[in-house]
Amino acid sequence: MQASPITFQPKSVILANPRGFCAGVDRAIAIVDRALEKFGAPIYVRHEVVHNKHVVDDLKSRGAIFVEELKDVPDLPGGAVVIYSAHGVSKALQAEAAERKFRIFDATCPLVTKVHVEVAKLRKAGTEIVMIGHEGHPEVEGTMGQANEGIYLVEHEEDVANLAASGKIKDPTKLAFVTQTTLSVDDTARVVESLQKAFPNIRPPRKDDICYATTNRQNAVKDIASKVDVFIVVGSKASSNANRLREVAERLGARAYLIDDANELDQAMFVDFSKVAVTAGASTPEHLVDEVLAALKGRGFGDAVLVGGESESVEFRLPTELLDG
Ligand code: SF4
Repeated sequence: MQASPITFQPKSVILANPRGFCAGVDRAIAIVDRALEKFGAPIYVRHEVVHNKHVVDDLKSRGAIFVEELKDVPDLPGGAVVIYSAHGVSKALQAEAAERKFRIFDATCPLVTKVHVEVAKLRKAGTEIVMIGHEGHPEVEGTMGQANEGIYLVEHEEDVANLAASGKIKDPTKLAFVTQTTLSVDDTARVVESLQKAFPNIRPPRKDDICYATTNRQNAVKDIASKVDVFIVVGSKASSNANRLREVAERLGARAYLIDDANELDQAMFVDFSKVAVTAGASTPEHLVDEVLAALKGRGFGDAVLVGGESESVEFRLPTELLDG
């Protein structure tokens, strides 16, 4: 399919590019796949390896067991094989796993690990940290859990005012911020602006923590959303980056829906509308997008026109023990 200018034909479908799997998700799924091949079932995965129902169901059917707590992993002879999800884990969880002598494979996205390393370095230097992220998200728990103290979570601009008023920050001249990798670029810029007003000496990350995949997928939606009536985002409700894509589209005036798969398409989404765009979160397999496009065709829509040209060439290595040969 060739990238083309946006068309406005009746019943047209525009397919955003880039969309779908990022390098971190590719790697995380490959780690579970290869661990299943190499060690056989059961393989224990701490949290959904990536936030996609179809990916998780497929891996479950092949012998992966998803657990939230390590206490749910049994002590097996030789040590149970345990994989950390792409979202990363706290130091406390790593220590618990080491004590239980599990055989660990770490599917934490290297771009999340980069933030972990930054947090550890900052704390070692005595710098306090503000993390911008969604409370309760596993990536936030993992990143906050890289430090025992001196790290504070904010989600919205009003949280910044509350933090400033709380008196928790001991030395505002030794303060830095980090972010979750899958946030809304625009919302985060507003929170950063509030942080910089409240703490003029706060230091930004050396390189943006919001990852390339999140940024590129949001930009692709921004290029299209104001020109279509309906924006379908294929992805699971637990996926932070997929939720952000739906919000970006909605803010630009499209009726935006986050659906797991073609079965969730509803005629009501399209009544009186003729221009539909489709994208997918970073943890959504492409076959689910193909099925949505086929279902749209079945409703009288035309062939999808690919729009957007940001090419991605990021790849992450697998753990040596899981490489072929
Ligand atoms: S969305 Fe970004 S941080 Fe998350 S797995 Fe993909 S590349 Fe890594």
